[in-house]
Amino acid sequence: MEKVIIIGTGCAGWAAAIYTARANLEPLVISGEQPGGQLTTTTEVENYPGFPEGIDGPDLMMNMQKQAEKFGTRVDYSMVEKVEKQEDGTFLLQTSSGEKAAETVIIATGASPRHLGLPNEKELIGHGLTSCATCDGAFYPDVPVAVIGGGDSACEEATFLTRFASKVYLVHRRDELRASQIMAERALANKKIEPVWDSGVTAYLTDDDGKVRAVELENLKTGEKSELDLKCVFVAIGHIPNTQFLEGSGLNLDDNGYIIQKPGTGFTNIEGLFAAGDVADHVYRQAITAAGNGCQAALDAERYLAERE
Ligand code: NAP
Repeated sequence: MEKVIIIGTGCAGWAAAIYTARANLEPLVISGEQPGGQLTTTTEVENYPGFPEGIDGPDLMMNMQKQAEKFGTRVDYSMVEKVEKQEDGTFLLQTSSGEKAAETVIIATGASPRHLGLPNEKELIGHGLTSCATCDGAFYPDVPVAVIGGGDSACEEATFLTRFASKVYLVHRRDELRASQIMAERALANKKIEPVWDSGVTAYLTDDDGKVRAVELENLKTGEKSELDLKCVFVAIGHIPNTQFLEGSGLNLDDNGYIIQKPGTGFTNIEGLFAAGDVADHVYRQAITAAGNGCQAALDAERYLAERE
């Protein structure tokens, strides 16, 4: 029986591992499908405190893993398929490497940015295609970029990108934004933002270096095709929290599938089951907030275990 199993190896998972390992709880971390989480898909991270020169996303994650392992964290490279609470208050996990039992579980499985599903999308991530303006906007000064989407995220990202880009196309599939009035008005009032209504991206076009140079658009009302020259596409069509495996667990999720935490903590509605990071946060979604929440969940789990003893 493990004292703590942490599911997920993004910032929240490793932060929780560092804290529980230093508390001598010998955490077992289950890696998930994409070890290292979302930061492994970015290049340079310039906004994580402590790295004045910036740090590569994958390097940051490897450092976190090393730090967690230094204090006794063990890693199982597998996927969790099911989490069930047992009558004695412990948890049974079905994983791709077999059954595991634990007194507490910290879920830090993150969220995956929704993509358009175009053929070369995966290979272009980090090469002119991204889902994070805060992370990558500063790499595109004085060049045209596009944001895809019409919600609050798209408007927020487009407005933020006007600090760097020469022009920001806001490509939306309808002629009306979904975003809240205040965010929509702010975006549309910005002279650097040019909305491209009723349009869908049908292809990402690349240069000889394999970087995005334009997108092919289709006007969804007329069927007319066109090309839009740009240096980067920011896809902001929502995120999908990685909670599908929790179906039937009794955990409270919101309408979009995010885990509902007791505000400002790692607690969920199930005793002994904690959550941390983007899997429970659709608002901030930053490496630093995920790491901070991982620390909270670890401290909450540690105190819960101390009280059980
Ligand atoms: P969202 O509200 O679900 O909006 C997604 C947008 O992407 C919609 O405009 C949608 O178009 C479009 N879209 C979805 N699938 C698409 C596809 N396959 N092709 C093209 N377009 C597609 O997601 P979000 O903007 O990430 O916001 C999520 C939640 O976080 C919301 O509750 C939002 O209010 C909140 N949020 C708040 C803040 C803030 O308050 N500062 C900032 C960001 C997000 P349609 O409109 O046609 O459906």
